[in-house]
Amino acid sequence: MQKLIYIVEDETDILELVSMKLQAAGYETKCFERALPMLKALETEVPDLIILDLMLPDLDGMEACKRIKGNPATENIPILMLTARVGIEDRVLGLELGADDYVTKPFDSKELVARVRAILRRASWETAKNELKISEDFRLDFNRYEAFLYGRRIDLTLTEFKILQLLTKRPGWVYSRSQILDHLWGNDKIVIERTVDVHIKNLRDKIEDYSTSIVNVRGVGYKFEPPEEGE
Ligand code: CA
Repeated sequence: MQKLIYIVEDETDILELVSMKLQAAGYETKCFERALPMLKALETEVPDLIILDLMLPDLDGMEACKRIKGNPATENIPILMLTARVGIEDRVLGLELGADDYVTKPFDSKELVARVRAILRRASWETAKNELKISEDFRLDFNRYEAFLYGRRIDLTLTEFKILQLLTKRPGWVYSRSQILDHLWGNDKIVIERTVDVHIKNLRDKIEDYSTSIVNVRGVGYKFEPPEEGE
């Protein structure tokens, strides 16, 4: 099935060029010159990816990104930011607001299509069955809170499963201990951050060969690095 990509960009020549290149690469596209009509369209349709310009006349791209990622109905849609700004702060802020990647203008359209492909490949991990296939040997069933390794069900506690669910949701993204705790218990935090380390240790023991996929980023927290393709 053709993947649907929303493109939001007020410079019409860029909008048309990006749309044309993506269509040539086999994607279906829908073009918007403003952010608000795009947000409106999201109420009735969920695209596979949104390419979002940072500087838009009606709503800042950052704000649009925040609204998309802050809504449970749209939070899983990957966002690729287009930015003319070169400041590292903007990129970091964009990624913090939940953008999946960014491309700096002027960009090479081949590069853009390659980025789109990479993001969509990552996103296709999550299937309609609410199951995540990390690899042929390792998968998670989010409906039943079960994990399977080499065809066997592994005995994870609910907490361990939820940590794994959070980390694998955005591979490569570093979650702080405090963010992990928020995900587990919301604001009802009676546990200390050190608890996260204990759960992570137990989780690593159970997922055997995949234990190295959970990476400790010193002073920050944890992230999930998926195994290389083909392994
Ligand atoms: Ca613009």
